[in-house]
Amino acid sequence: MEELPLPPGFTARKLDQVRKAFEAALGADKVFFEDLDRLTYQDKFAIDEDAHHPSGAVGPTTVEEVQAIVKIANQFAMPLWPISRGKNFGYGTSAPELAGSVVVDLSGMKKIEFDAANGVATIEPGVGFYDLYDYLQANGLPFWLSTPGNSWGSVIGNALDRGVGYTPYGENTKFLCGLEVVLPNGELVRTGMGAFDGADTWGLYPFGFGPGWDQMFVQSNFGIVTKANVWLMEEPESLMGMDVEFDRPEDLKAMVDCIGPLRREGLLRQSPSIGNWLRAASILTTRDEWTDQPGALSDDVIDAIRKRFNIGWWGVSLRLYGREEMNKAAYKVLESEIGKIKPMLVKPTSWVKGQPMERSGFTGTPMTFPLQNVNWYGGRGGHIGFSPILPQDGDKALAQFQRTYARYKEYGMDYQGSFAFGERHLINVNAMIIDKDDDAKMAKIDTFFRALVADAKANGYGEYRTHLDYMDLVAGSYGWNNNALRRLNETVKNALDPNGIIAPGKSGIWPSRLAGERKS
Ligand code: ADP
Repeated sequence: MEELPLPPGFTARKLDQVRKAFEAALGADKVFFEDLDRLTYQDKFAIDEDAHHPSGAVGPTTVEEVQAIVKIANQFAMPLWPISRGKNFGYGTSAPELAGSVVVDLSGMKKIEFDAANGVATIEPGVGFYDLYDYLQANGLPFWLSTPGNSWGSVIGNALDRGVGYTPYGENTKFLCGLEVVLPNGELVRTGMGAFDGADTWGLYPFGFGPGWDQMFVQSNFGIVTKANVWLMEEPESLMGMDVEFDRPEDLKAMVDCIGPLRREGLLRQSPSIGNWLRAASILTTRDEWTDQPGALSDDVIDAIRKRFNIGWWGVSLRLYGREEMNKAAYKVLESEIGKIKPMLVKPTSWVKGQPMERSGFTGTPMTFPLQNVNWYGGRGGHIGFSPILPQDGDKALAQFQRTYARYKEYGMDYQGSFAFGERHLINVNAMIIDKDDDAKMAKIDTFFRALVADAKANGYGEYRTHLDYMDLVAGSYGWNNNALRRLNETVKNALDPNGIIAPGKSGIWPSRLAGERKS
């Protein structure tokens, strides 16, 4: 970083006044405005690390402190960027969209309460998946989490950015039930039944009376969430399933057309994710063990890697949760349906309560090993996600894969892609693995990413989530009726946040005051 990053209209002197106001309200030990602090909160994996540099950070530990921060921000028109634990790798980590914003780091708010009768955790934003897991273990509570590949992050942060796990509760945002939020004017609000004084149904009925607002605070910049109720899955009596490998890229079509109906009818209740060979291989080996050739890997090298680790071109893990008798019956159906599409390899797995358990995303165990894929190229590794939403249609999924794969080859990148099932959709997560030390390759990433977004748009597919760099691009691609949705979002933004202080630019939503900051 060469210069002090300041928000638009700020001078170093005004920033100093803001810092002093924060120190007076919170105490100096919760205010971080040194160069090293700024480095801590930047996105070290962004294409241009300086583009999202914060001017500082604050670390409140109570709701009152969050309210005090919001009050000061309004006074000085200082943009804030709330994070829960800031481990949003591939999408911006802890850095703000608008350079010079102050990061509100909520990782010190770590209270957990648990309603064991109903399986509802009431948690603060700093509670990570490991924290909640440890809490359940320490208290002998038979509940499973829905953990993402990077479980280092926050349970609330993940749900607020629509991250996913792999159990029947895999769509984390759907299992939020009632939020507590500090609004941009500093007022504290509880959504759903939390608005009813003395109700003990806050974590049970998600809608309350009148409009349901929970999703309004998801992927938005309409408030700072300070508490949430999250439903957890009771430990099932049994877990059965299979890890299945398929040999050819074209097999994707049959896989989607076989698994989709099983998911939609409810035989499969979890969220399976079809991943290509590199998703499996990149955590087992590194590229330099196989080739020193630049450009996308040749089929020969891919075949050699697959052979060594006995992995398919595509693999998928399918799991059944519930009563043992029901799982046994469902397994027969699954086995027969999968058998019809000729897998290369089927590895059955089964568990009943009391036995030693598989420690994976399927049993809600926190994990970080999938992050190892960023070592694939060596150097300073990272990844950027490109993730359009598709229908559960084999022909369309295959066509989207073929288009994307051709682009990866054109730009000399090794393809790592997956297709994660929701109830009726697929999220096609493509991880662009990068090496920040490889200048030549880094120079191509932006054009590569934009080509992928344009291809998807031309075929009617929009992204479900994106990196800070591309929030405006993606928001702009949701253009129906002259960007009516973006205009609605910004009308709401301006009404709730007239000074435009909460996360300007998040999801492409800009307050009028900062509308000039929108990127193309
Ligand atoms: P994780 O650590 O689980 O990856 P983050 O803390 O990085 O999650 O949060 C992901 C994104 O969600 C952040 O960049 C921010 O835009 C939004 N976010 C996170 N926590 C909050 C919160 N408490 N209130 C409002 N928005 C939040």
